[in-house]
Amino acid sequence: MLPSGSLYDSIITIEVGPKPPKAYWLHEGILCHHSLYFREALRGDSSESQQKVIKLEETEVKVFDAFKNWLYTGKLFDTSTLDDPKVFDVLCKIWIFGNRRGVPGLKNAAADAFIDQSLRLWILPDELFLFIYDNTSNGAQLRTLIADLLVLSRDLLEMFTRLDGSLVERYPKQLLLDVLRSPMHKDLRFQSIASKIFIGKMDRCKYHDHRGPDEI
Ligand SMILES: [Zn+2]
Repeated sequence: MLPSGSLYDSIITIEVGPKPPKAYWLHEGILCHHSLYFREALRGDSSESQQKVIKLEETEVKVFDAFKNWLYTGKLFDTSTLDDPKVFDVLCKIWIFGNRRGVPGLKNAAADAFIDQSLRLWILPDELFLFIYDNTSNGAQLRTLIADLLVLSRDLLEMFTRLDGSLVERYPKQLLLDVLRSPMHKDLRFQSIASKIFIGKMDRCKYHDHRGPDEI
């Protein structure tokens, strides 16, 4: 659904990152249309809504850049960014930002890009698992996605056999439980080459949040 023209009526300032912050000027209506957090921050009696300035000190500029691109173009970034393996880090941070700021559509765009990226590079960012679990709650779609992708793309028997102290430190305990609980074990009747096809065809809506910003 395309937002109506009135969403472009007024501009607000958003200051992102620690001092000195980077300032963004965005349409208030667009922000409020997509995000429950911004709607509450801007429509209430708070000082933010009076001054039309919101400060997001803990948000990284590259994450907010992607949010801004997504708001206005529907895309997180240009394709050259997607070729960088470090994009996993940004995608996870975008998902976490979308989750905290009540923007389901942004989370879904990040989850889809995460799947596309793992298919393209055929890797998973193990080094981010602890970070992801520290910043999401039980049952988060991003956790389910990672557990399912692990089941579909790794030799788990071999992975668990190597599970010595250092590996236990890298894999959150809850992730190992999520991996064991993944329904993908049942579906996995393929060798690893075929599982690449399987991941390409899997139902992405399982990892989406289909609520509107007002339903959270
Ligand atoms: Zn969906």
